[in-house]
Amino acid sequence: MNYTSTRGDTQTPTLSEIVSRGTAADGGLFVPADWPALTGDQLDALLQGSYAETAVAVLKHFGGNSFTTGLLERAIPAAMDKFGAAANPPLKQITDHLWSLELFRGPTFAFKDYALAPLAEILDAKLASEQRRATVLCATSGDTGAATVSAFANRSRLNVIVLFPNGGVSEFQRRQMTTLEADNVLALCVDGDFDDCQRIVKALYQTPQADEFGFTAVNSINLVRILLQTAYYFHAAGNISRQTGRNASFIVPTGNFGNVYAAYIARQLGAPINRLVVTSNENDVLPRLFECGKMEATETHKTISPSMDIQVSSNFERFLWHLKGKSGESVRQAQQQLAEQRCYALSESELKALHHDFSAHRCSTEQANDAMRWMWSDFGKIVCPHSATAVHAARQLQGTTDDQLVLVETADPAKFSSAVHNAIGQQPPPPAGAEKLMTASEQFTAVSASLDAVLTAIESRLR
Ligand SMILES: *Cc1c(COP(=O)(O)O)cnc(C)c1O
Repeated sequence: MNYTSTRGDTQTPTLSEIVSRGTAADGGLFVPADWPALTGDQLDALLQGSYAETAVAVLKHFGGNSFTTGLLERAIPAAMDKFGAAANPPLKQITDHLWSLELFRGPTFAFKDYALAPLAEILDAKLASEQRRATVLCATSGDTGAATVSAFANRSRLNVIVLFPNGGVSEFQRRQMTTLEADNVLALCVDGDFDDCQRIVKALYQTPQADEFGFTAVNSINLVRILLQTAYYFHAAGNISRQTGRNASFIVPTGNFGNVYAAYIARQLGAPINRLVVTSNENDVLPRLFECGKMEATETHKTISPSMDIQVSSNFERFLWHLKGKSGESVRQAQQQLAEQRCYALSESELKALHHDFSAHRCSTEQANDAMRWMWSDFGKIVCPHSATAVHAARQLQGTTDDQLVLVETADPAKFSSAVHNAIGQQPPPPAGAEKLMTASEQFTAVSASLDAVLTAIESRLR
């Protein structure tokens, strides 16, 4: 399996090298040069295995042999053991044609656990075999930070530095990052917004300390994270196909385009999947792209689904590379335009190709509230405001298609209890294991939104 950068850089790292690397040297993202060709038996195995078995097999098809022998086979099941009954993401049938994939039953109650928990185990084992240490850096608007802290806490070879915006995450999410008793975790409450946190993290990689502390990224542009997520789409599509004889269509609440890109990979490899539906809140940069062929980043609006308050979907660059016929130079030009002019345009044929693989739906706050009320009144099910955008799209699609529609539920409603309470007049119950969270004592360091302040805090902890 060969990897290449979406912007044409010619270095060809192995999967094992990619796991601890962020972007390619030219600023692009790593993509497999070709999809692995699977035999019928190999595809059946992916559709029938447990989540852990399928995740191991997917990574193997994508060059997993570059890891030490047996590393993936040990690390991934060890991580999933901690999920209990949710080690296989629960799939629930709601009506004849509507299903829900509940990806929020892991340790921190959002889908990010399914990739970050095994990723932490893989990275830890890799560092042990190389006798190295590393420091994971993470800027978060909430869920990624919680999942990262939980996955990496108390690992002797790893430190975790998480930067979250002061007032920019829910109390529940903040407490998930600040109440773990772990010496290797430093939570930094930055007096700024999420963009400040991300800017500082990017700048940290350029400092002399980057080598000294071994700064490493685990954000959603990490290809191994996306490949791990591919496993739950195989698992769910396999189950639906066996039970109904039909293909599944996934409706995915989207921010950085990582989760839905994982579904796209599963379909490209032959999983019984029909359409892929992207949903967004008022930050509707993707639905606008689908309508007029222009990727145009505007100002970010704060909504009740903060994990989707994104104007630049970083992983879309991977799909753009396919749209541009794998031309690194064309992708580089488009991304440069996006950076400088906040905009690029697709050609008519590229737009057509985009519609062939995906569709996109926007959902206003009002419509999300309606969707939460509908789920509650008609099915007794409480969904989070992110998942509500998928519910809204499902209501629009029902009746227009024979597909088995699958709501991809990305977070537990209890993480966003005030928005949910607002919509349905009911407090979502705290998930099992979260009771202590709201009373435990918190540990974090408040810093100003400057590189110097953050570096000083990191040095005083790590040196
Ligand atoms: C991260 C996140 C998303 C967006 O996922 P992407 O992979 O960035 O598209 C949606 N909902 C929730 C709850 C999230 O935490």
